[in-house]
Amino acid sequence: MDLGEKLPILAGSAKYDASCASSGSGRRKGFGANLPEGVCHSWTEDGRCVSLLKVLYSNVCRYDCAYCVNRASADIVRTAFTVQELVELTCEFYRRNYIEGLFLSSGIFSDPDIVMERLIKVARTLRTEAGYGGYIHLKIIPGSGQKLVREAGIWADRLSVNIELPTDRSLKSLAPQKSGGEILGAMNDFSHFADEAEKTRAKSGLYGRRSPATADFAPAGQSTQLIVGATEEDDRQIVNLSSSLYRKFSLKRVYYSAFVHPKSHFTSGSGGSIPGDSRLPELPSPPLLREHRLYQADWLLRFYRFGAEEILGEDQPFLDRHVDPKTAWALRHLDFFPVEINRADYETLLRVPGIGAKTARRIVETRRSRSIGFDGLRRIGAVLKRAKFFATCAGRFLERADDPHRIRRLLSDDAMDSLQPELFDSVAERPPSYG
Ligand code: SF4
Repeated sequence: MDLGEKLPILAGSAKYDASCASSGSGRRKGFGANLPEGVCHSWTEDGRCVSLLKVLYSNVCRYDCAYCVNRASADIVRTAFTVQELVELTCEFYRRNYIEGLFLSSGIFSDPDIVMERLIKVARTLRTEAGYGGYIHLKIIPGSGQKLVREAGIWADRLSVNIELPTDRSLKSLAPQKSGGEILGAMNDFSHFADEAEKTRAKSGLYGRRSPATADFAPAGQSTQLIVGATEEDDRQIVNLSSSLYRKFSLKRVYYSAFVHPKSHFTSGSGGSIPGDSRLPELPSPPLLREHRLYQADWLLRFYRFGAEEILGEDQPFLDRHVDPKTAWALRHLDFFPVEINRADYETLLRVPGIGAKTARRIVETRRSRSIGFDGLRRIGAVLKRAKFFATCAGRFLERADDPHRIRRLLSDDAMDSLQPELFDSVAERPPSYG
């Protein structure tokens, strides 16, 4: 099979792994609009859109994860790149400005160490022989040795290992060849080497280029992906798990991926087939709203200083479908409000629906020189539609929060409107391949 035939197969097998924040990219028609096969858009921490070549090294897999189109029992065309092919392809796309980076994962075509070594070889060859200075995101293959995790981090900017399912029980049921212990072990290895590299740098003052000598280790950190809705776990279990992963392993991101039944991939004329599987739920559509609410809850964990137990209490298994998690918290804690905009500290301002982290910072800066009224609050960036129920400016209300049911009703549409259509587009076109 030549490279032109391999690329669409191995890009199709990988492009919807969510753990690099990729939207997938539609191949648009028209002048100057076509992107080469395998190029996906992704977003950096600061919101910049970058293009990545997103492929599997091989879609041959010994494992039979029920939710995946690459599972061993699927009847699909199987192939693999060679290291040299992938290096040349990456450099060629990079030189032509199609991409700013490479996202590389693989099916488990052999022993985990051998698969990991192959991924590392691609990254090492790019850095040491091809002079490639672009971004590299490598998957850690669970079960591969610590030394390999360390070497992967020397050549890659980011590493990720997908946790996939929220509990060991679910993993045993849908991905029996995977081990929760190995997945968490790989995350732990990452944290250990990242800490070690940080200490070495601090001692030696060696910052900058990646090489064994500078001991710079995956500077963009580690991430993971969780599939939502394939198993019975509720949102509370998922939010608690994410919170504990952020705490224990200093993850940069947990990505949530609404479950899409793998058989849906084979009804679009793509060829191949997959056996029926009674372990998988038959959902009418992917749980996109649930995925969206989990991303909002995740945001509260990472940037708004919320604890997991504040987002969902003992008696609340699922996030509110109708309002975002911060508004839901506010409606359960009306005694915390109103917050006086001209006096509240930064942390308290963060709790007000309609006030984001940037707006809270601006409020603190602005009120050093003048008092802030509701007009000023709007100009600074607050969403008054929501904030007005929970804040006062110089003691004045715009609208008092009296009846939580009424406010919930009023803000319900607002929250639903805030669902971005492009989010739905991106997830809806995602076939169930997780790599
Ligand atoms: S999720 Fe990964 S390990 Fe499991 S079948 Fe798919 S490619 Fe193989």
